[in-house]
Amino acid sequence: CGVFGVIGVADAASFVALGLHALQHRGQEAGGIVTHDAGTGFHSDRRMGYVRDNFTSPEVIAGLPGSLGIGHVRYSTAGHKGQTAIRDVQPFFGEFSMGGAAVAHNGNITNANALRKELIARGSIFQSSSDTECIIHLMARSMGATIPDRMEEALRKVEGAFSVVAMTRTKLIGVRDPLGVRPLVLGRIDTGGGAPGWALASETCALDIIGATYLREIAPGEMVVISDEGVESHFPFRQKRQRFCIFEHVYFSRPDSIQGGRSVYETREAIGVELAKEAPVEADLVCPVPDSGTPAAIGYARQSGIPYGMGIVRNQYMGRTFIEPTEQIRNMGVRLKLNVNRALIRGKRVILVDDSVVRGTTSRKIKEMILDAGAAEVHFRIASPPTAWPCFYGVDTPERSKLLAATMSEDEMRDHLGVDSLRFISLDGLYRAVGEAGGRDPARPAYCDACFSGDYPVAPSDMIDRGFEL
Ligand code: 5GP
Ligand code: SF4
Ligand code: MG
Repeated sequence: CGVFGVIGVADAASFVALGLHALQHRGQEAGGIVTHDAGTGFHSDRRMGYVRDNFTSPEVIAGLPGSLGIGHVRYSTAGHKGQTAIRDVQPFFGEFSMGGAAVAHNGNITNANALRKELIARGSIFQSSSDTECIIHLMARSMGATIPDRMEEALRKVEGAFSVVAMTRTKLIGVRDPLGVRPLVLGRIDTGGGAPGWALASETCALDIIGATYLREIAPGEMVVISDEGVESHFPFRQKRQRFCIFEHVYFSRPDSIQGGRSVYETREAIGVELAKEAPVEADLVCPVPDSGTPAAIGYARQSGIPYGMGIVRNQYMGRTFIEPTEQIRNMGVRLKLNVNRALIRGKRVILVDDSVVRGTTSRKIKEMILDAGAAEVHFRIASPPTAWPCFYGVDTPERSKLLAATMSEDEMRDHLGVDSLRFISLDGLYRAVGEAGGRDPARPAYCDACFSGDYPVAPSDMIDRGFEL
């Protein structure tokens, strides 16, 4: 999911709509905006579908007045997967003795089932199937004197990954879980003279679109409370070593965002360079599976000296296939979205570079299309290690049995996909490419890489309760 918030600007809703539009790649099922206006109070609008279809009309924006607002774009990982109901669309809102608050959350609460059961037993009435709603009920039960105090207390009971953007009548709040699994950044908005405005966003590309200046990342375990008086920061949780999601670098973030002090594009190119060193092959053409494989393919081509070409062309008007929730839609999706550039492919030995293989659906279809177009050989090179474990921290990987790499060796996957060769970057190679010169330190890994290693930095307790074996 993507989260965004802004304070201290004339028309917060337009800023939030633009920010969410820039974060649309993080969630395409639904979106919502909450604003607060001193005269008329809180306003909320939550809708299914794209930001551009929902939050661009003057009427909708006029219904969201105020100088303070937050928003969320949703991609379902918890709750009722693939059948998002409007009641599951964020931000969520709660009314407390000291006023209202709205909350938008990116990540996954790994003890949400246990919390929900406990809260229901004590009288909470849940309105949605979302893990995020636990935060509101925990806040309601807190005895804290202020909303930020209550939020702090609530989040201390929550396990897993959370980057939260929240608001009260007068404050914009940003919090990141102690491991900093999901991203969250802070920007300043020049308002042309007076006090500056402030923005919180999942990625810096959402600051760029509103012309805000990127200041810094919210630190793991940090809470910022922003008001007319400026930005207040504190660290309410026990300090831990950061374990940022390494897959944000590989796939999830937009290439024009900055993560960990470096452009995601540059990181992806470096991954391609590393991949070419680890897994060279003789061929005529390096071709990305667009768009997610493109920067890595450019790096691979540069390092190998093999010409780069757009052998597959993407229809820009389809969403990310993966986000479409049912198997059937996903199967069709590949052809609706990607087409082979036959003139370029015919008779060539082609290296296809993609970011990841999950179920293998995409790779299989693409291989068929490339062979139909007359390719002489097809070699897959993958910019991440085999995805052998599900993610419980906010990325929608399927259950373990559906992951190709959970049940097959690399050679078996190659045969299953029917390609001439298949190689994945090593986990050490990936770490080198993201800037850890020494590779992965198994005693103190610098990132979360659980979907590749099975080394979960937070025990997924709800899943373990349900019988998931580590
Ligand atoms: P597959 O077809 O193997 O199941 O999916 C792999 C494709 O899904 C890749 O091209 C990748 O770009 C895309 N993808 C989209 N979202 C995700 C995600 O959340 N996780 C992973 N691993 N791949 C994803
Ligand atoms: Fe990211 Fe994978 Fe960790 Fe999930 S399990 S947070 S996708 S590295
Ligand atoms: Mg892809």
